[in-house]
Amino acid sequence: MSADCLFCKIARGEFSTEFLLETEHVASFRDINPQAPTHILVIPKKHIESLAHLEAEDQGLMGELLLAVKDLAAQEGLRDGYRVVVNTGRDGGQSVGHLHFHLLGGRALQWPPG
Ligand code: AMP
Repeated sequence: MSADCLFCKIARGEFSTEFLLETEHVASFRDINPQAPTHILVIPKKHIESLAHLEAEDQGLMGELLLAVKDLAAQEGLRDGYRVVVNTGRDGGQSVGHLHFHLLGGRALQWPPG
């Protein structure tokens, strides 16, 4: 946990954010600025700055996160597909320094992204 990390604070329940799914290691909640009808963030409760900061010991946690994404997509009824995005670092467009998966769906998404 990092004291002044926004997503660590959310994971600790400091903002009464509604969790769509919560386990011992994972939390998920709706993005405050949705880019699609479904836009959910799935985060590890452990503070990991980005995908580039993963350690070998995080292997199981990454599996948990992706399984949570899959379950949330089913929960949201995204039968026609969806997109999972992990913005990483400055050029990747990451604005919050705590690893998170974006789950986007509910409309046909364009490719390539900008
Ligand atoms: P990224 O730009 O990939 O780092 O994604 C960060 C995301 O966090 C953005 O899509 C923001 O809209 C979202 N966000 C920032 N603050 C909050 C918040 N308090 N609750 C929910 N989502 C947030």
